[in-house]
Amino acid sequence: MTENVIEIFSSVQGEGPYVGYRQVFLRLEDCNLHCRYCDTEHGTDAHPVCRIQITANQQAFREVPNPLSASVAAGYIADFIKEVPHQAVSITGGEPLLHTEYIVELASLLSTPLLLETNGTLPDQLAQVLPVVDIISMDIKLPGLTGREVWGSHRAFLRLAREKDVYVKIVLAADSLQDELRQAFALIAEESPGISVILQPATPTNGVLAPSPEFLLDAQQEGLKVLANVRIIPQTHVLLGQL
Ligand code: SF4
Repeated sequence: MTENVIEIFSSVQGEGPYVGYRQVFLRLEDCNLHCRYCDTEHGTDAHPVCRIQITANQQAFREVPNPLSASVAAGYIADFIKEVPHQAVSITGGEPLLHTEYIVELASLLSTPLLLETNGTLPDQLAQVLPVVDIISMDIKLPGLTGREVWGSHRAFLRLAREKDVYVKIVLAADSLQDELRQAFALIAEESPGISVILQPATPTNGVLAPSPEFLLDAQQEGLKVLANVRIIPQTHVLLGQL
C-alpha cells in the first residue's frame, strides 16, 4: 500500500489537551474540505516528494520521491522513536481519513499509540480505522469558515469517536458567528457533554483574522453553559517556533 505523504517529522504536539507531548507527525495529502484558514496545500498528487526530517531535534529535511509505502514510512517513524521516546504518532493532513487502508497498515507496523487528527466529517471512514487509533482529535467546523454545513456528519462522527479518547477542537476567527458556535456546543452537549472541548483562535492566514480576547472569553462562557470542559488553547508550536 502506498500513498503520497507530505512530510514526516518529530515535534511537540502544539494543539489541544496533549499540547507539549513529543510526537512524530505524518502528514497525508488531500482533503475533502476547503477551510478559509487552511495552510496546507491540497489536491491529489500535489506532492511529488515527501519531506523527511533528517534528525529529530533539527529543522532540516531531505526529500524522497512519493508515493511512500506504509512500511517505508513506518521505518522513518521508527528511526525518530529510536532517537527520542515519543508519546504518540500523529496521523494528520490534509484529511487522513481519505487514506484509511494506509492508516490500518501503518498501525500494524507501529507499537506507539496513534493519534488521529481529523476534520471530523467522515464517519464511515472513521469506522474503518477505529480499532487501530488510540486518540482522536476531532474538529467541529463552523460553516462560516468552510462554506459548508456538516453538522450531520459531525454528529455521526462523534457518536463513533466517543468510544475512544477523543477531544473536539473548534477554530474561531474574528468573524465567527456566535449562533454557529452555539449550534456546535449544543451538538456536543447532546452527544458527549463531558468531552474536552478546545477553542482554538485562528492563527492569522489567508486574510482570516484571529478573534479578539473578549470574543474568546464570551465563547468559552457560552460553552460552559452546556459543557463541563471548555478550554482556550492557541497553536503553541507556532509560539515556540516548533515545526
Ligand atoms: S480540514 Fe484541515 S486540511 Fe482540510 S481544508 Fe480544513 S484546515 Fe485544511
